[in-house]
Amino acid sequence: MEKCLRPHHGMCFQFYEGKGYSADFTDHMGRVIKELEASPEQKVVLKAQTDVVCKNCPNNEGGLCSSQDKVIRYDKEVLKACGLSDGCEISFDKFTGLVKTRIIKAGIRSDICGDCSWDYICRSKE
Ligand code: SF4
Repeated sequence: MEKCLRPHHGMCFQFYEGKGYSADFTDHMGRVIKELEASPEQKVVLKAQTDVVCKNCPNNEGGLCSSQDKVIRYDKEVLKACGLSDGCEISFDKFTGLVKTRIIKAGIRSDICGDCSWDYICRSKE
């Protein structure tokens, strides 16, 4: 069964270094990334809603992110930059490639999520 991913998590995955909102959250996120990277051809469904990463997040309040407006804005911007639509199915490696070329290499990452509390990590690696 394909995984549901928040589109903006495709950006978080690029710079993830084991930091996060809680130990449980980071352990889980690390596992999710490992599983996706082990089978990059697997299909994911991109949806602007809580996903497999949000599952163990302390900010997940009964299925809604406590920063809902902000993260949905990120999700929509990522979909737009990648030329994708909410609910689309795509292979993980194709999605990752689009994020890398159309957002990271295009230099628009901080225009999308520059107000995220983890921005300093991504900024230091760009
Ligand atoms: S619940 Fe919110 S803060 Fe937590 S992983 Fe999901 S989008 Fe990020």
